[in-house]
Amino acid sequence: MTATVIDGKAFAATVREKVAAHVTMLKSEHGITPGLAVVLVGEDPASQVYVRSKGKQTVEVGMESFEFKRDVDITEEELLALIDQLNNDPKVHGILVQLPLPAHLDSDLVINSIDPAKDVDGFHISNVGLLGTGQKSMVPCTPLGCLMMLRDHHGSLSGMNAVVIGRSNIVGKPMALMLLQENATVTLTHTGTKDLLSHTKRADIIVAAIGSAHFLKADAIKSGATVIDVGISRTDSGLVGDVDPAVMGVASFVAPMPGGVGPMTRAMLLTNVVDACS
Ligand code: NAD
Repeated sequence: MTATVIDGKAFAATVREKVAAHVTMLKSEHGITPGLAVVLVGEDPASQVYVRSKGKQTVEVGMESFEFKRDVDITEEELLALIDQLNNDPKVHGILVQLPLPAHLDSDLVINSIDPAKDVDGFHISNVGLLGTGQKSMVPCTPLGCLMMLRDHHGSLSGMNAVVIGRSNIVGKPMALMLLQENATVTLTHTGTKDLLSHTKRADIIVAAIGSAHFLKADAIKSGATVIDVGISRTDSGLVGDVDPAVMGVASFVAPMPGGVGPMTRAMLLTNVVDACS
C-alpha cells in the first residue's frame, strides 16, 4: 500500500479563494475590510519569516495587514498598551502576537490581554475554556487545519480512534478537544505515556505534534491509518517532520511535512479573521 498524500497546499489555496470571496462580500455588503494586526517582538529570523508570509497572504485575500515590530527590550507595560490600542481599533478585527516572546515578557498575561473576540490564534483563556466546554470559540489555527483535512478525507470522524502525540496548549490539547467534539474516541499521549505503540497501533487517526525527526515509524501504526504530520525538526538534510517516510507504505492517507499542515495553518488564520468580523 502507498498512502495518498493529503495536499495541504492545494487545500489551503481553495480555502483562501473562499476567504477572498467572503472578504469581497464583507466589503460590498457591509462596508467592512477585515484587518489583521500582527505584533512581532525582537528579531527572531523564523518569526520574521512567519510574519512576512502571514502579512502577504492577508493582503492577497483582500484584507488589511497591520504589522507592529517592536524592539526585543520592549517593556511589558508598553506591549500591553499596544494591545489595548489594537483592542480598541475598529479597523483591527484580529490580533496575533507572534510567539515565542522574549523571556522577560509574561506570554500568558500578554495573550490574555487580547480581546477574546479578536484572538484569532485562539489562545486566550476564554477561548480555551469555550473550546473545552464545546462552545463556539476562536480555535487555534494548526489543529483547526488538521481537522479540516481530516474532515475532508473522512467526512464523519465519529467513532474513530484518534491518537494525538504531544500535549502542548497550541497543538496537542486543542487538537484532542476538537476531535472529541467530532465524536472520535481520543487518546492524548505525551512524554509520560507508557507503551506509546500500544496506543498508536490501534489508531485510525494519528496526529503527531512532537518536534522529533521521523519519530513515528511504520511499525507504530496500523495498516490503513490516517496520519497527520505536524512536527518540524531542523536536521542536516533540512526540515523534516515527526513521521518517518516508511509510514507511507502502511498508512492510507498522510498529510506530510512539508506541504500539509503548514499551509493549512496559515489559511485557517485568514478564516479566523473573517469569522471575527461577523
Ligand atoms: P511543544 O514542544 O510545546 O510540545 C511538544 C509535545 O510533544 C509535548 O507535549 C511533549 O510531551 C510531546 N513529546 C515530546 N517528545 C515526545 C515523545 N518522545 N513521546 C511522546 N510525546 C512527546 O511543541 P508544539 O508547539 O506543540 O509543536 C509541536 C511540533 O509541531 C513542533 O515541531 C513545532 O515546530 C510543530 N508545529 C508545526 C506547525 C505547522 O504549522 N506545521 C504549527 C505549530 C507547531
